[in-house]
Amino acid sequence: MRTCLDCFANSLTTKHSLGVKNMAALNFNPTTTYTGSCHCGFIKYQCTLDLETPHPATKAILTKCNCTWCFKNGSLLASPGELTVLSPLAPDTELTTYLFHNKTTKHQFCPKCGIECFFGGTLVSAGKTIQYYRVNVLTLDGRADGRPLEDLRKIKVMYWDGRKAGGGSAKGMGSEPWEGGVW
Ligand SMILES: [Zn+2]
Repeated sequence: MRTCLDCFANSLTTKHSLGVKNMAALNFNPTTTYTGSCHCGFIKYQCTLDLETPHPATKAILTKCNCTWCFKNGSLLASPGELTVLSPLAPDTELTTYLFHNKTTKHQFCPKCGIECFFGGTLVSAGKTIQYYRVNVLTLDGRADGRPLEDLRKIKVMYWDGRKAGGGSAKGMGSEPWEGGVW
């Protein structure tokens, strides 16, 4: 299947953002709370996710992207409903920031162990600037309700053609990895 950039951008508009809740554009309201961290524990965060229901726009629960960052980083992504950074208290100054390509996505990683737990940025779609966040579910530690963390091997993964996103030849979201991507 194909998802246009506009749909994808809408799918990224979730309640979220480093402790601040924004309005959801779609009927997408993950309510299960998870905790996560980087490898050394300097970054600690909490987020809400729905790891059972495909996203209404992208049909994905988890996403792999073939952009040059996600590919090298091995990111396995989910859309949080809310994302709160518990540590460090000033992520914008205490985490290392890396911007590439159009520099509208902020990659922030632990200055001690190098792990990136989440990223966020803005997309301009149909003249509207949309803020979005993604969590790397490989950095989840557990569920706040004490139940075991889902088996990530069993969760449906969709593939986003991030390498060409924004360009006329971008293929959107699909059920198999796009060129340049990986299973
Ligand atoms: Zn760390």
